[in-house]
Amino acid sequence: MLKLENLSVAVNGRQILHDVNLHIKPGEVHVLFGPNGTGKSTLIGAIMGFARYKITDGKIYFNGQEITNLSVDERARRGLGVMIQRPPTLRGLSVREIVHICGKNDVDVELLADKTNMLEFLDRGVNDGFSGGEIKRSELLQLMAQQPDLLMLDEPESGVDIENIAVVGEAANYILERGSKKKGKSIKKCRTNRHKSGLIITHTGHILEYVPADMAHVMYNGTLSCSGNPQEMLSCIHQKGYEECINCAE
Ligand code: ADP
Ligand code: MG
Repeated sequence: MLKLENLSVAVNGRQILHDVNLHIKPGEVHVLFGPNGTGKSTLIGAIMGFARYKITDGKIYFNGQEITNLSVDERARRGLGVMIQRPPTLRGLSVREIVHICGKNDVDVELLADKTNMLEFLDRGVNDGFSGGEIKRSELLQLMAQQPDLLMLDEPESGVDIENIAVVGEAANYILERGSKKKGKSIKKCRTNRHKSGLIITHTGHILEYVPADMAHVMYNGTLSCSGNPQEMLSCIHQKGYEECINCAE
């Protein structure tokens, strides 16, 4: 689904990512841990093709084709979808209109808005005066309409209250076409039909209670330092911090 080969990225002339290699197969969800300022958002921005992230070396492949130099809109058309940390306010464009744009004409806006608790926001400007949690739900509503093959979420639980974390988790599962998983209940394994993939940045790991992940990576100083089981790595980070976690892997 996604393959990064020796990806190096600079922002404003400063090298942020060095030699990142990552392989996400169809149906897999990977999580990315790492301290603040280490380059996690830069990685997602570079994969999506945002202009400020300059790829100085390496290649990005999506569904077997190189996309390193494609425009953002072309990447979105091919099936890359992203929820960034701080999306802009778009006054004059309503949530209803942007959901139609994301999902073409046959999208059932009301149904998707109901799933994301966004019915009362449909005729407001995108993110205009929205709280942190409302912005996340609005972004997920757009992604549900877009139906990307690769879903990238940048700290989806930040600014979201406990009740709405479940809404965020369920929406992510809907986009990934995975069965609903209520907190604490067992996960149905039906891997054979899975096709959609995910890359999720999380500090707290709360989202993992709703969206089970297959693999975790720690990013440290702009490189992927180690990879492993998501729950084991999360508890290691909680107990020992990032530096110890990486030393342990070494
Ligand atoms: P993370 O998501 O892991 O917290 P980021 O990818 O947002 O980290 O940032 C990585 C580094 O890149 C940080 O040191 C940040 O200050 C820097 N950076 C991000 N955007 C810019 C920018 N527009 N100009 C200069 N430096 C930037
Ligand atoms: Mg970030």
